[in-house]
Amino acid sequence: MTFVVDCMLGKAAKWLKILGFDAVFFSRAEDDRLLSIARDERRTLLTRDHALVARAKARGVACLLIESEVWEEQVRQVLVDLDLLGEVRPFSRCVECNVPLKPLSRENAANLVAPFVLEHEKEFSLCPACGRVFWPGTHHEDMEAKIVALLKGDTIPIS
Ligand SMILES: [Zn+2]
Repeated sequence: MTFVVDCMLGKAAKWLKILGFDAVFFSRAEDDRLLSIARDERRTLLTRDHALVARAKARGVACLLIESEVWEEQVRQVLVDLDLLGEVRPFSRCVECNVPLKPLSRENAANLVAPFVLEHEKEFSLCPACGRVFWPGTHHEDMEAKIVALLKGDTIPIS
């Protein structure tokens, strides 16, 4: 399942990408543009705007009305309401480019990362769009804990 995310939901959009989902987000976009992207690309529209949900439904566009103002609860609602907990693939997508990362061999990584990184890390992946190389150490330390909490539905302190 892929998404187009209303501009009110930027942090949720970012976290859906961290969890591996294809989520298109614009910091500014007209409702008509969101609706046409959702329709043309068969994306589910995520929004907190009741009027926009009504317009989406009238046009047969898949959408989900997000209830909470808190991003953790927003992400959790998407995962639970759309039955996506089993499809979470953390760190499999470039958050900047919204494209899936590709596995990168150590041999190829050797030309792209600093020697001390190569020495300490085993697994590498590459964003085919921006060329950035990722490895487990590139994640913020608290991200994995947040993901575990999101999947379990625990209450997470708001950061
Ligand atoms: Zn990228």
